[in-house]
Amino acid sequence: MSSQVAVVTGGTRGIGEAVSIALSKAGYSVAANYAGNKERAAQFSERTGIPAYQFDVSDFEQCQTGVAKITEDLGDIDIVVNNAGITRDRTLHSMEFEQWNEVLQTNLSSCFNMCRCVIEGMRERGFGRIVNIGSVNGQAGQYGQVNYSASKSGIHGFTKALAKEGAGKGITVNAIAPGYVDTDMVRAVPERVLEKIIRTIPVGRLGRAEDIARGVLFLVDEEASFITGSTIDINGGQHMY
Ligand code: NAP
Repeated sequence: MSSQVAVVTGGTRGIGEAVSIALSKAGYSVAANYAGNKERAAQFSERTGIPAYQFDVSDFEQCQTGVAKITEDLGDIDIVVNNAGITRDRTLHSMEFEQWNEVLQTNLSSCFNMCRCVIEGMRERGFGRIVNIGSVNGQAGQYGQVNYSASKSGIHGFTKALAKEGAGKGITVNAIAPGYVDTDMVRAVPERVLEKIIRTIPVGRLGRAEDIARGVLFLVDEEASFITGSTIDINGGQHMY
């Protein structure tokens, strides 16, 4: 049997990179998407042998073209990991509409865009695995992040609704809510703020991208067919409810 095909959005850096590598090592045929950092994408592909595909997941037409190209190159898509995400942190009273919109489009509309492009094929074939990367800040809210928190909260609702639609067709849809993970995104947080955050994590450290990849690997397994509509919190104990 040929290996299952997995697409990881934002799959060339940070959490996505670890997910791409973990899936590839587990025998999946992986396509890693990215937005515009060609240098990092080229280094990633050279190092891992995993092909990288540049398209903007906030743009539906680009997703259609990207998915078509991946399907042509690797075959029908069995697994989608909606991982691409950005922050544009500001308090609401100083936030421009553009900062709201860019985050909503990139983090949340991207889930619609990617899932819409693959869902009919998954339904026809009676199999699919979708994992959406949410955030602890979508669950608990975060100062200066109404845009980001709203987008990630939206992902959790999206996940449950689509899980209900896919359940009778062999398609599982789950989310992972990472806590603070040591990637470029978190390295952008001022050091004094980060130190404060780490003090709130019972495990006493930031997460590693591989901690999140482990959860994805678990959820995409064929044997995980009874797990759908769920959210796995991977946050070092920072937030429990
Ligand atoms: P990161 O290091 O900043 O990497 C982001 C990745 O997403 C890059 O590959 C980037 O591509 C890609 N990307 C951004 N906008 C895109 C677009 N419009 N189209 C396609 N790709 C796009 O981020 P990260 O920290 O690994 O975060 C990954 C996911 O986990 C995000 O959804 C984030 O919200 C979530 N998360 C992260 C943390 C954390 O602590 N790091 C915590 C909770 C949740 P380029 O390389 O081309 O820019």
